[in-house]
Amino acid sequence: MIQLADRTWTIEPSVTLALSARAKALRASGIDVCDFTVGEPDFNTPAHIREAAKRALDEGKTKYAPAGGLPKLQELIAAKLRDENSLSYSTNQIIVSTGGKQAILNVLLAILSRGDEALIPSPYWVSYPEIVKLARAVPILMPTTEATAFKITPEQLEAAITPRTRALILNSPSNPTGAIYSRAELTALAEVLVRHEVAVLSDEIYEKLLYNGVEHVSIGSLGEEIFNFTVTCNGFSKAYAATGWRLGYAAGPAHVIKAAVDIQSHTTSGATTFAQYGAIAALEGSQDEVEVMRREFERRRDVFFAGLQTLPGLTCTKPEGAFYLFPNIAATGLSSMDFSQRLLEEYHVAIVPGAAFGADANVRFSYATSMATIEKGLERLQRFMERL
Ligand code: PMP
Ligand code: GLU
Repeated sequence: MIQLADRTWTIEPSVTLALSARAKALRASGIDVCDFTVGEPDFNTPAHIREAAKRALDEGKTKYAPAGGLPKLQELIAAKLRDENSLSYSTNQIIVSTGGKQAILNVLLAILSRGDEALIPSPYWVSYPEIVKLARAVPILMPTTEATAFKITPEQLEAAITPRTRALILNSPSNPTGAIYSRAELTALAEVLVRHEVAVLSDEIYEKLLYNGVEHVSIGSLGEEIFNFTVTCNGFSKAYAATGWRLGYAAGPAHVIKAAVDIQSHTTSGATTFAQYGAIAALEGSQDEVEVMRREFERRRDVFFAGLQTLPGLTCTKPEGAFYLFPNIAATGLSSMDFSQRLLEEYHVAIVPGAAFGADANVRFSYATSMATIEKGLERLQRFMERL
């Protein structure tokens, strides 16, 4: 029998992707499932982006691109980061990867060595601890709850730092909580990071999905010192409804990005060339559809949140960004796994147990799905909660 490598021993499969596949399979078998599992916009990618990729194919843009990405795309990403995020990167400080997920992997492989510690506020996006483990480093979780609006404090950060700490993984707006760090909160965290020379991987993939007029702040923009310790990650999946295109990027100090590109040059050789032409159109073209989708997500959030408020046994913090609701179900006495399993089996509502994000008192509903599904799902949820 072929023996598996030790790096596989503790890796968990992506629960979000697995549950989404299960919900799709149930639907294919004829069951009317309300699917709130995966964070994947239900909109199609805007037409001008699709057209640009089709044109690229027809024009023979079917060859390898440079490993770090098409120079034109890197330039547009640099311009976007400068104009929208007040971050000043040149093109050799930008890597385009096969999804934000792979950009994060490349960066963490570049900066973490065996036994290094990476700090992860919990609840966390499912893949962070697993990617850290793939890099043979140690994920150190920093618990947060509703009491601190699911945000870490500078004191907590300070207390978690050890001589082995190399990085903090920060995700604002957050998946799964929807929490957003303010400028003042980020400034206080940046001060601690700079003092201890700890890098921050700032995953800003939900930056376009903000509600109630809140501001998105990039931690790297808060001064030259923190800029030098920041790697900013982002991608096209969420803002442009382009999950299947597999396009994301990271921007950071040139030596870090060079190492990440070197790694990428031996793994995927870079993101798909004609898809990158679509990304060029996404950044060059009108951003109107991004705003149309954002407004629709906000409408869904408001309806879904109001519906959850009326249910006994469930409390929910109102998310300020992303497209997830993360209610607390502790009062039901069920674990998040039991709650989710029973809801799926008895009422055909598919959600993700909070345990997947390090929070067993919560469950996650993605509202990147139609209003009709939200309304039907709420009705089923109400019947489920009443029977508990
Ligand atoms: N970061 C977070 C917080 C996410 O939720 C996702 C969604 N999958 C990603 C990164 C990566 O997305 P993708 O690989 O599709 O760009
Ligand atoms: N980030 C999305 C989610 O949390 C997509 C799934 C994944 O990448 O794991 O649902």
